[in-house]
Amino acid sequence: MALAFDEYGRPFIIIREQDKKSRLRGLDAQKANITAGKAVSRILRTSLGPKGMDKMLQSPDGDVTITNDGATILEQMDVDNQIAKLMVELSRSQDYEIGDGTTGVVVLAGALLEQAEKLLERGIHPVRIAEGYEMASRIAVEHLDHIAQKFEYSVSNIEPLVQTCMTTLSSKIVSRCKHTIAEIAVKAVLAVADLERKDVNLDLIKVEGKVGGKLEDTELIYGILVDKDMSHPQMPKRIEDAKIAILTCPFEPPKAKTKHKVDIDTVEKFQTLRHQEQKYFNDMVQKCKDVGATLVICQWGFDDEANHLLMHHNLPAVRWVGGVELELIAIATGGRIVPRFQELTPEKLGKAGIVREKSFGTTKDRMLYIEQCANSRAVTIFIRGGNKMMIEETKRSLHDALCVARNLIRNNFIVYGGGSAEISCSIAVESGADGYPGVEQYAIRSFAEALDSIPMALAENSGLQPIETLSAVKSQHIKEKTPFCGIDCNDVGTNNMQEQFVFETLIGKRQQILLATQVVKMILKIDDVISPSDY
Ligand code: ADP
Repeated sequence: MALAFDEYGRPFIIIREQDKKSRLRGLDAQKANITAGKAVSRILRTSLGPKGMDKMLQSPDGDVTITNDGATILEQMDVDNQIAKLMVELSRSQDYEIGDGTTGVVVLAGALLEQAEKLLERGIHPVRIAEGYEMASRIAVEHLDHIAQKFEYSVSNIEPLVQTCMTTLSSKIVSRCKHTIAEIAVKAVLAVADLERKDVNLDLIKVEGKVGGKLEDTELIYGILVDKDMSHPQMPKRIEDAKIAILTCPFEPPKAKTKHKVDIDTVEKFQTLRHQEQKYFNDMVQKCKDVGATLVICQWGFDDEANHLLMHHNLPAVRWVGGVELELIAIATGGRIVPRFQELTPEKLGKAGIVREKSFGTTKDRMLYIEQCANSRAVTIFIRGGNKMMIEETKRSLHDALCVARNLIRNNFIVYGGGSAEISCSIAVESGADGYPGVEQYAIRSFAEALDSIPMALAENSGLQPIETLSAVKSQHIKEKTPFCGIDCNDVGTNNMQEQFVFETLIGKRQQILLATQVVKMILKIDDVISPSDY
């Protein structure tokens, strides 16, 4: 009962409306929480690795997502349980910080919880387990630093970077042309990277997709792609050395803003008004030409008559361009956004080597490529694919690859994938356990066992015998003292991950271990769950 007594012996209630709340305490609370966490992790386990399965999720409004990305699966699952939400949060933090390894981190957390359950059953106090896990994670992270290898790349030799990005893509739908996509990701990141400060601003990389074509047609554009076309079909489709006026003001004669009445009762009056309007617009066009603009990009629309006049005066224009795109165009071309027409001056024009319009397939879809921009740091990746789901999944996979490339530029240390880093850490943690005389020793050993669950899941998903495969690789590690051996998921014939070029970033792996430990410790320390009951 949550009834307590004050110093005078008077009873008082700590939790109001107790009958309406359900409550779990002590071991029951921990076990229920562990079960919830494990359930989430079990969902993702089958998605891990190059032979992992995809999940199909349908949103309430009927949109279908097919994905292999841990963070996306959990995000769209709409979980209700509080502990399950913690696991979703775990995957999300890995995504924010690192961008890759979102499935692995949840699988590891699930394995740690499973081991903790066994320890609880043996009567070990949860706090001791949490402490043991903390010690073990420290040993594992230190060991990672020990086995990590420096990774050399240069702008002229990007192949090592491409290989690492390929590892993350190998488990996705796009694995069919992972080399093309990985190369695009690396080139895009290098184009916007500041190699001296080791910094990459991923906001400068715009990812666009259009249904149609093949995945192989995906391309990197050193500039901006706008999903718009020239306002008139007879305007030129290619402009070289373009000087671009970027307008957020209306490009037409001003309309009266408040109510005015214009009496037009004769043809002459109508003609005069028409001429006035035409002259006004002609003056605007002339002003654009006088400042030297050869292309006008406008946030607003203009009517057909204005459009015709623009064509007639040989001034190409694009209308209804979104605010975000306008900003990117301004950044890339070194131009300024002009909010009032009177303020248009030559120095506010953006400069681009080529602006061209390209049409796709048999449809009337056209897009505008703005390339060789004065400030060429903004790039666009243009994804093609058979259907919308494919394009969305490619965008997510590309995001992972971009993050891996960025992480490598920030810190160019790698560890080997295919579970080899986990096996190596597991051996180190296991042997480190003997150094601790307390009960924590058991927790440290369990941590080592939990690390083994990653290679086991990889083996299981690839149709191999998990226990046999793992024990063979583990003994190989101990015998040969090499940290490269992992699970040969693709049946290449060697389990040497160095030869297979399966790399992962050191910071990504380190973050996985640290985040998973942190969440599991948090879950273990909860011994009272108070929630509104169902009735
Ligand atoms: P995450 O979302 O955690 O990145 P993935 O489904 O991408 O999950 O799987 C990543 C795991 O698959 C990593 O442990 C990685 O080492 C492993 N992996 C990727 N490619 C290969 C490969 N060719 N052979 C063996 N293991 C691989």
